[in-house]
Amino acid sequence: MRLRIHRGTREIGGTCIELESGGSRILLDLGLPLDARDLASTPLPNVEGLAGSSSTLLAIVLSHGHRDHWGLIPKVNPQIPLLMGRATESIIRAAADFVPDAVKLNATRHLEHNKPIQLGPFTVLPRLVDHSGFDAYAMEVEADGKRLFYSGDLRAHGRKGSLFEALINNPPRNIDTMLMEGSSLGRLADDQTFPSEAALEETFVDRFKITAGMALVACSAQNIDRVVTIYRAAKRTGRTLIVDAYASEVLKATGQDSIPKPAPGWSNLAVFIPKSQRVQLVRNNIAALVDSYRGFRLWPEELAEHAPRSVMLFRGWMMRDLDQAKALAGAKVFWSQWDGYLSEGSAGDALKADCERRGITFESIHTSGHASPGDLKRLASAVDPKRLIPIHTFEREKFPSLFQNVVLADDDEWIDM
Ligand SMILES: [Zn+2]
Ligand SMILES: [Zn+2]
Repeated sequence: MRLRIHRGTREIGGTCIELESGGSRILLDLGLPLDARDLASTPLPNVEGLAGSSSTLLAIVLSHGHRDHWGLIPKVNPQIPLLMGRATESIIRAAADFVPDAVKLNATRHLEHNKPIQLGPFTVLPRLVDHSGFDAYAMEVEADGKRLFYSGDLRAHGRKGSLFEALINNPPRNIDTMLMEGSSLGRLADDQTFPSEAALEETFVDRFKITAGMALVACSAQNIDRVVTIYRAAKRTGRTLIVDAYASEVLKATGQDSIPKPAPGWSNLAVFIPKSQRVQLVRNNIAALVDSYRGFRLWPEELAEHAPRSVMLFRGWMMRDLDQAKALAGAKVFWSQWDGYLSEGSAGDALKADCERRGITFESIHTSGHASPGDLKRLASAVDPKRLIPIHTFEREKFPSLFQNVVLADDDEWIDM
């Protein structure tokens, strides 16, 4: 078996790993680079048969539903088999009706925790991991008697942190090459840790208690861990979490009974459909979706009255609806995403300015979707690979001082296992 990383040896985003054995190949992830302007102007990596046809390219396996891991899929030959988690597929499909530039991917097969999949000479063993993206997998791949472990994106401090401990207690054995993400390196000192989702829940509880009006939380609906954190904090403070149709559909798409959603049995949850979303639903011919929210709907004229007992999963463009409904008295905005999205000229930056203008407090409450350097150290020493190659990092130079057996690779370079 040999491998080449097409993108990711020096950056976060655009992850793509090609594995080859006896002339057959598979890809692990095919992401959109973070700096891509748009899909149309971003070329596919140099993989034979990606756009055209090639009988030797057996499949593309997606670790999870973040676009930096699957964003280029719409450009590939649709005949190529696609593998991903079941919830990953449903969430991507549900989101496609609401998010620009999105597509409804079709999985040929689904990844399942600890269930090996045979793809020609490759045996792929997915391991469910804790990450800000739902239904995320690390993967062991075996071929020609050689063994590779790809971490995907993962962390230890989320709501499924026990999966990380399980991975460390029962690590993949006899790994020749490990590809490990290093997103946190450079963002956090080597001895620093990120707050856990549980700690974030306590912070939200504190803040919701002292918020007179509506608590507006700007977070990604696809960060399911975070939505659960916010829902729990809302419930603990006697508030109702208000979600829009997009978040409702994403929550339903998880297919998990334990995830809050507008469905029988769930309390402290309501659905509000902003004006522009109503237009979008009609335009996309999915207005019938709202029928499934019966019993959960909150109407514009009810917002002001409900505001002091509500938390809204919020985006900047919803401010207009809240303003028109006179529901902003005593409101506070909590930014619960990466601070990088607040950079000058971004939608986050515009929201911050809008809050300033309106005299609405703006506070950041967030934790990373990626493991701290300390947790990465625990993972690397548990797996104890013969060779550790950094991937999904801007700080590969930090690897040799933190981990054993580090070998730096270059994009596009073939590496023999
Ligand atoms: Zn991710
Ligand atoms: Zn990623």
